[in-house]
Amino acid sequence: MDAISPPATHQNAHAKAEDYHALYRQSAEEPDAFWLKQAERLHWFVPPTRAGDWSFDPVDIKWYEDGTLNLCHNAVDRHVEERHGDQTAIIFEPDDPADEARHISYDELKREVVAMANALKALGVKKGDRVTLYMPMIPEGAYAMLACARIGAVHSVVFGGFSPEALAGRITDCGSRFVITADAGKRGSKTVPLKANVDAALAQDGVDVDAVLVVKHVGSDVDWTEGRDHWLHDKVSDAACPCEPMAAEDPLFILYTSGSTGKPKGVLHTTGGYGVWTATTFHYVFDYQPGEIYWCTADIGWVTGHSYIVYGPLMNRATSLMFEGVPSYPDASRFWAVVEKHKVNLFYTAPTAIRALMREGDAPVQKHDRSSLRVLGSVGEPINPEAWRWYYEVVGESRCAVVDTWWQTETGGIMITTLPNAHAMKPGSAGKPFFGIQPQLVDNDGGVLEGATEGNLCITASWPGQARTVYGDHERFIQTYFSTYKGKYFTGDGCRRDEDGYYWITGRVDDVINVSGHRMGTAEVESALVLHDKVCEAAVVGYPHDIKGQGIYCYVTLNAGEESSDDLCAELRAHVRKEIGPIATPDHLHFTPGLPKTRSGKIMRRILRKIAENDYGALGDTSTLADPSVVDELIETRQNR
Ligand code: ATP
Ligand code: MG
Repeated sequence: MDAISPPATHQNAHAKAEDYHALYRQSAEEPDAFWLKQAERLHWFVPPTRAGDWSFDPVDIKWYEDGTLNLCHNAVDRHVEERHGDQTAIIFEPDDPADEARHISYDELKREVVAMANALKALGVKKGDRVTLYMPMIPEGAYAMLACARIGAVHSVVFGGFSPEALAGRITDCGSRFVITADAGKRGSKTVPLKANVDAALAQDGVDVDAVLVVKHVGSDVDWTEGRDHWLHDKVSDAACPCEPMAAEDPLFILYTSGSTGKPKGVLHTTGGYGVWTATTFHYVFDYQPGEIYWCTADIGWVTGHSYIVYGPLMNRATSLMFEGVPSYPDASRFWAVVEKHKVNLFYTAPTAIRALMREGDAPVQKHDRSSLRVLGSVGEPINPEAWRWYYEVVGESRCAVVDTWWQTETGGIMITTLPNAHAMKPGSAGKPFFGIQPQLVDNDGGVLEGATEGNLCITASWPGQARTVYGDHERFIQTYFSTYKGKYFTGDGCRRDEDGYYWITGRVDDVINVSGHRMGTAEVESALVLHDKVCEAAVVGYPHDIKGQGIYCYVTLNAGEESSDDLCAELRAHVRKEIGPIATPDHLHFTPGLPKTRSGKIMRRILRKIAENDYGALGDTSTLADPSVVDELIETRQNR
């Protein structure tokens, strides 16, 4: 596929092609010097004298061990001390466009974070305590994370769309005694009863906390448990509340993974390495320039929200936009209306949103001025080349750099991506390893594959932002990531490397299918289907096939206004044959109005595989599904009976 040369998005870009090569080489050859230098981005109470101290066999990962710092100090106080208190830290765009947006300066951010940190202290929260956050997408969510970091408490953010059961499980798993929530949240004109959900979670057997701190947001009526529940506004104070000096390896947060492949894991990140990693990756990948407006549409309940709404941008003294709502409310042009309204320069979203908006056509995009946009990011799933092109050409007017960033909750920050200005872009490829990242592709027996090839994606050397453990289950950490290929971090993803050294994520290794001895990534077949102009989204899985070993089962969602028919089936089969080859011809095409997705919008192929295998009795953990009714409907209409 042809590479698209980098648009000159900024004259003073942080990295140009030559810099990338020099910096990458240094990061590989002298990692200690390189990462000590990058650590200077942060303010340390005691600067570290060494960088990485790690082993993958046995597993023991430490970075900057003799340094002390506080990430709230780096994200907030430091900018105030350096006389940037007037600058806008957070722009808040509410769910309802008729409500007024808020601009929160770094001065104000500091006041709010101190106030909330004092409230936490008043409730008895101490350094090392776990605090569960169950919040809407409002600035108070960021204040709560930073207030925890300020006093050394470990936050565990649970996405506000999760059920009481899922919340209860995450509260008990990490032994959290405190919950911060809001009376309710708003999403696409709907009210989410957050406080009532917390009450329901805490009413379950064996779930018990000392205190619930409640932010008044919507003004809804809530039930109240005296002695346990406290309004934030009754507990705040402006007493001095210094940032707690934290050892670099002190825990910063626990975050449960999306649960695409199984039971969510409580991934633990520590302070120093995560701080340096998110600050450095944000700086280079988004090429942030002073004064620019940056918007990441993720929720703070996901790692993307942690690293690239809160910590990365604020440590870089960026202006970070927080959006309470959804892309489809009041209509499909909302994202672009917000871009125009706040003159957003850097925009970061997920393929699921891009595909959903692409389905609505170009008109909603073109209604709004997007000339402020300079860099467009994507994260969360492989982006189909077709969706990539639409993002680049229609949204970005073929003028913006697109960064397709591959990373995971466990990696803390971006691992593989192109850099604006430094690299040519290839639609559908994440690109090149970030500084310090050493990807390796191995075969199923662990044999190292060189050159242009395809295999299982491992990382051979630690990086500062790497997760340190699975909370309370270090054995699971070792088993999941370090035992498949000894001495290497195994990502669980499959990947192809081309002759230019670009990496193409082909999906989860578990999703690779083997048809008559030919191995293929499901992403490839999906991209071929999405290329057809009637198809909006596709999910492909294998199922046992008597002759071929595995057959190809495709779930297909059509564009708005399109109807399924036998003719269309034949047309799609012929289309995939033409795009990939006869070997990839779909056996079953299952048209559906929706696909089962995690709450973060990822397609749950694990469940689709079960349905295609006609083994829907044991669907496994479905607590992270956004809409369980989709599954019932798919079972009802399944093809392979
Ligand atoms: P679980 O680990 O619980 O199954 P999950 O892997 O979906 O859930 P996350 O950490 O949120 O949880 O997602 C990381 C995964 O998302 C990656 O391993 C990869 O499969 C996919 N991913 C993220 N970004 C990209 C990208 N730019 N291109 C391709 N895949 C991506
Ligand atoms: Mg994962």
